[in-house]
Amino acid sequence: MISRLLLLLLWLGPAAPVGAQTYDIVLSGGRVMDPESGLDAVRNVGITADRIARISTEPLAARRVIDARGLVIAPGFIDVHQHAQDAASGRLKAFDGVTTALEMEIGVPDVASFLQRKKGHSLINYGTTASHAAARSRAFDTPFSEPTLVAPSGAATDQPATPQQLARIEDRLNSELDAGALGIGMGIQYTPGASHLEVIRMFRLAAQRGVPVFTHVRSFGRIEPGSSIEAVSEVIGAAAVTGASLQIAHINSSCIADAPECLSMVAGARARGLDVTTEAYPYIAGFTNINSALFNPGWREKLGVDYDALQLPDTGEKLTKERFDQMHADPAPTEVLIFMNTQEMVETVIANPLVMIASDGEDGHPRNAGTYSHILAYYVRERASLTLMDAIRKMTLMPAVRLEKSTAAARRKGRLQEGADADIVAFDPHVVSDRSTYQAPREPSIGMRYVIVNGSVLIDAGQLVSGNFPGRAVELEPGKRRSEHHP
Ligand SMILES: [Zn+2]
Repeated sequence: MISRLLLLLLWLGPAAPVGAQTYDIVLSGGRVMDPESGLDAVRNVGITADRIARISTEPLAARRVIDARGLVIAPGFIDVHQHAQDAASGRLKAFDGVTTALEMEIGVPDVASFLQRKKGHSLINYGTTASHAAARSRAFDTPFSEPTLVAPSGAATDQPATPQQLARIEDRLNSELDAGALGIGMGIQYTPGASHLEVIRMFRLAAQRGVPVFTHVRSFGRIEPGSSIEAVSEVIGAAAVTGASLQIAHINSSCIADAPECLSMVAGARARGLDVTTEAYPYIAGFTNINSALFNPGWREKLGVDYDALQLPDTGEKLTKERFDQMHADPAPTEVLIFMNTQEMVETVIANPLVMIASDGEDGHPRNAGTYSHILAYYVRERASLTLMDAIRKMTLMPAVRLEKSTAAARRKGRLQEGADADIVAFDPHVVSDRSTYQAPREPSIGMRYVIVNGSVLIDAGQLVSGNFPGRAVELEPGKRRSEHHP
């Protein structure tokens, strides 16, 4: 009898450590929300190294157990439209729950040096597209480098490219993709000299390389030619004839009063099998360089606004014609707020199920610091125009799926599931709020109790952990790089 019990114990022995497995971190007793599976229940989340290893109703043992009772546990937010890539902005993004912030709309001028600069120095995950605007400036022999993203208006922005210049642009974009760019960024409004044919050529290159085009469309407003509707038609047409996937940036500010029509165009394209997606930021004011081609003559007529719609951040100074002329002519870029949308239209756009949230983050606009908490505080809690799960889907799963064309690694992002990357936010749904405003655009959001990036605790009980840089590159998958095919 005794020997039998001993045998039984010996037999059970090897199984015992499974039940007693020790995770690196356990988030205990939080409300776990996963937009893909629809899970919305109290669970314990076990993290081992950089992955979510276990999601369970059973208690889990860990080297560190975080009491997450009362907190919502969601995938870390993915911002596919983040221009500011400096350390201070990375900190603001972390407090806003963003664990991945990518420069996709325009792209950086040099992908390899960008990835090198960020490596080991980034709080959150980072990545970029290949910049058409920068490739074009190189082809016009007026290259620029970070932090510039779009050239001041001039020959490289306003003149058509010769066939030789077009070939140089394509060469550069190809090598930038090989360096790890996640797609092609095209700020067409910032390069009005690009012909319709040039746009199609860039889309064709993207289709050949199997990557999406992220675009700020050519123009906005209602005046034809050059309306928002025409501009969206151009890129949807280019996607249709080339087969490229397309993401239209900030449909709120590119379409303004015609945003519902633009969204119906996106829906129509999708219904006919095209891979067209879009995003928006939840603010009424745009923000851009005053010396860019966006302010070429005719901008007031197109937008139906006057000089006083332009406002300087921080000071709140509204511009006059004299101030505008002086700043537009200055080669040093100044960022300016453009008040051109209504709150009603922004709310209509944000609620649309086709629209993912992206911040268009730049220093000086409150969206850089507050976009994601603003969605949770205002749209979910105050207005109840979005459910919490829909808001989380727009900020996690939808951008992750958009990135899957560029890298299969994105399938592990935007999900709160076993096997997913441990990019996690745990926030108090009653407290989470943005604090940044047009007059004070650098105020960090509040309410993110824990932010975990690649399994490393970045924000701990509401405090940023110093000296910890767990952010990693999100890059084009190796199989899509030419060096893999032609070693
Ligand atoms: Zn833009």
